[in-house]
Amino acid sequence: MSCYRPEAPAGAPTYTAARDHNPFALMRPRAPAKTPKALRNGARVKAGNVAPQGVYLPNYNVLTPHMRSPEYVQMSTAAAITLGIMKGRMYRCSCTRCLNLLLTYPEGCRANCAYCGLARHREAERDYADRNFIRVDWPAVPMAQVVDIVARDGAASPFHRMCISMITHPRSDADTVTVLKQWTERIDPATIPVSILSNPTTMTRADVQRLRDLGADIFTVALDAATPEIFERTRGKGVQSPHSWKKYWEILYAARDIFGPQKFGAHIIVGMGETEYDVLALVQQLVDLGGHSHMFCFFPEKGSLMDHLPATPRDQWRRVQLARYLIDYRGVRVEHMKFDGEGRVVDFGLPQAELDDVIDAGVAFRTSGCPGKFADDVSACDRPYGDSPPSDIASFPFQPDRRDIRKIRRQLRIVERKD
Ligand code: SF4
Repeated sequence: MSCYRPEAPAGAPTYTAARDHNPFALMRPRAPAKTPKALRNGARVKAGNVAPQGVYLPNYNVLTPHMRSPEYVQMSTAAAITLGIMKGRMYRCSCTRCLNLLLTYPEGCRANCAYCGLARHREAERDYADRNFIRVDWPAVPMAQVVDIVARDGAASPFHRMCISMITHPRSDADTVTVLKQWTERIDPATIPVSILSNPTTMTRADVQRLRDLGADIFTVALDAATPEIFERTRGKGVQSPHSWKKYWEILYAARDIFGPQKFGAHIIVGMGETEYDVLALVQQLVDLGGHSHMFCFFPEKGSLMDHLPATPRDQWRRVQLARYLIDYRGVRVEHMKFDGEGRVVDFGLPQAELDDVIDAGVAFRTSGCPGKFADDVSACDRPYGDSPPSDIASFPFQPDRRDIRKIRRQLRIVERKD
């Protein structure tokens, strides 16, 4: 099995050369269908009550075992290959540097975010542990086995970071604490630091403090939407989901106070209807607070409420990737940049020769996220092909080579310099 799945089904929309950004009017999610009562809350899995036997690889043809955190966690296909519990190879990557652990319950995530493969509206269609998320399957593994393998590998572990991804579930806060303790009892967080991808909806400031006290290194909030309107439409009342922009910011501010500068951040998905100015103003706001932004290129996840919508055109994505890198790591401010009437970047606020150097270095186009051991601006969380197919890479999970840079320049419509 490989770390990426084939392209979207025939007939599904893809980005087109005719449109160079995804406007708000276009990016409207479908309304969620009602789940029959008998299939709600993981009823099928709980009724079957099949005892899990070690590692579970998603399989739609068998009854999903009854697995729960903290005993079980799910991990990305890339992490499972890197950990050695699954066979497979990844296009142009030997491994991933981030072991992302996702809490798991038969009831699944109780939220209904429109772009997410894990959302509640899928209850009738697919059991939680079988759902695709950021384009890949997520095998379920006993937490004790994960810790055994990583502790055995010690300093030779390929992982530069571990991340606990909370979901919206009544047990999520307590189980995150248990998973974190289980990790730090056997693995020195100075060797493999831990990030928390939080679920603000169920959290208090005291929960944030507790995770810091227990040794978490970085705390992130998945705002995902760049504006309150898009948040409401994709993660709030617009799709019968419990999240609120206000609560997410409350926990983000708590993370700033408790974790401190450079130790907190926010996830943002680009191409859900915001303008480039909107998203870059948010990036600037996060930098001014002392944090970072971790960017994802919108991709229509199969089975989600936005799977009928186009992926982010590469022009829009590359402009935002480059501008975000300049704001996060090169001291350029959004006020130094120029935007057209539709909020698109037309001037990156840097002399052309310096801009050329940044483009040719390629780091700006790598996956963004919490840092690993290579450099501050190189993310451990490389999420291979989580936001695009390998045939048209959005976030590069490896260092782009000269051919990649030529393609990126074509997408940016910035011609190669003549040396
Ligand atoms: S809270 Fe997270 S996991 Fe749950 S539906 Fe929303 S994006 Fe997906």
